[in-house]
Amino acid sequence: MNFYEKFGLSPLINASETYTNLGGSLMGARTLEAMRQAGEGFVDMHALTDAVCARAAALTRNEGAFITTGAAAGVILAACACLCGMNEALHDSIPDTSAFAHREILVYAGAYRDLIPYWRLIGLTGAIIVPVPPSIDAMRNAITPRTAGIFLFPGTLYEKDVPSCEETLAALADTGIPMVVDAAAQLPPATNLWRYTKELGAALAIFSGGKHLRGPQSTGLIVGRKDMIAACRLSACPHPRIGRAFKTGKEDLAGFITALELFLEEPEEDRYARQASLLEDLARRLSRNSEIQTEWVSEGRLGTHQPLLLVTLPEHRTAVACNRFTRACQPPIDIGIYPPECGMPENVIFLNAYNLKAHEVEAVAEAVLRYVDSASE
Ligand SMILES: *Cc1c(COP(=O)(O)O)cnc(C)c1O
Repeated sequence: MNFYEKFGLSPLINASETYTNLGGSLMGARTLEAMRQAGEGFVDMHALTDAVCARAAALTRNEGAFITTGAAAGVILAACACLCGMNEALHDSIPDTSAFAHREILVYAGAYRDLIPYWRLIGLTGAIIVPVPPSIDAMRNAITPRTAGIFLFPGTLYEKDVPSCEETLAALADTGIPMVVDAAAQLPPATNLWRYTKELGAALAIFSGGKHLRGPQSTGLIVGRKDMIAACRLSACPHPRIGRAFKTGKEDLAGFITALELFLEEPEEDRYARQASLLEDLARRLSRNSEIQTEWVSEGRLGTHQPLLLVTLPEHRTAVACNRFTRACQPPIDIGIYPPECGMPENVIFLNAYNLKAHEVEAVAEAVLRYVDSASE
C-alpha cells in the first residue's frame, strides 16, 4: 500500500502548477537519494551549511547564498538583514525594533498586495511596513533616514499598474537603500537566479525551493550580496533568534543543493521540450471533441518562460466546474484555473506539464473529455 493510501488519501495528478497546496513539485531520484544519505549519519552542521551555501552561491553566480525553509522564511530573514545588518545586538532585539534608527520597509501599494500577501511577513520582524503609491517618484520620496529596505514582488500579474522590478531597481540604485526581490516563483528561466542580483542590482533575491527548483517543499534560497547574506545568517538557526523557528535540517540541505544542481545541469530547452511534447499529446487527445479548442502559450501566469496549453471548453462549461469534476475523478486530477485577476474567460483552463508524468497524460485528457460530455449545464 502506498504511503498516502495508508492514511486514506489518493495521490493526485498535478496538471496545474507547483502549488504549495498540492505538494509543490516532485524531487528527482538523485535528490531523494542525497536526502537519504544525509539522513544516515551525523555531521558538523556549521560545516555542512557553509559548504552547501557556498556551492549554491557558486552555482547561481552570486557572491553569497543561504538555504532556508522556503521563500516565506527568506522574506523574514531578508527583512532582518535590512533592519540589523551585522549588528548582533539588533538581531537579538527582533521583533522589538522600537529603538532602531532604520525600521521602515517600503513596499508598493499595488493591487497585488491582496494576491500575494507575503509582504505581511516582513512585519513579523517588527519592521514598520510602509505602503507607497505605485510610482517610482513616490518610492523615491518615501525614502527617509528611517528606511531600512525596499521589497519588490516581480511577476506580470503582481506588477499590474505597479512599476516593474527592473525599472525600480534601475531608478533607485543611487539611493543605496537595499532592495530585496521576492522571486519565489520566477523560474524558469534559470538566469533569474542571478539576474535580479548580479545584473539588476538587487541586494538580495529569494526563491522557493519547493516550486520549480524541485527541491524539498520545505526549502528556499536567498542569494545576493555577501554582506547581506551574512546579515541574514545572524538571525537564522543555529542562533536562538527569530530564524530558529525555521531551521533547515541536514536532509533538507542535501536535497536542496542536489535539486539546484539538477535544475542547472539540465538544458532549459530540454525541460521545455519535454513538457511541450506531453502537452502536444494532450492537445491531440482533446481534439477528439471538436467543441474543444486548444492554444499554445509560452508564458506562465507570472511571466515565467514555460509552455502551457490553454483549453477553451464549450460555452456554459467553466474552469471551476471542470476542476471540481476532475478532482472527483479517481485518481483525482488538478487542472489549471486562472485566477479572476488574469481576466481569462471562465471557460478557459490551462494545462501545465511541469509536474506531469507521461503515463498520466491519458487520464488528464479523458477526465477533461468526460467533463465536457457530462450532463449539459
Ligand atoms: C510561493 C511564494 C512564496 C512562498 O514560498 P514558500 O517557498 O512556499 O515559502 C513567497 N512569495 C511569493 C511571491 C510566492 O509566489
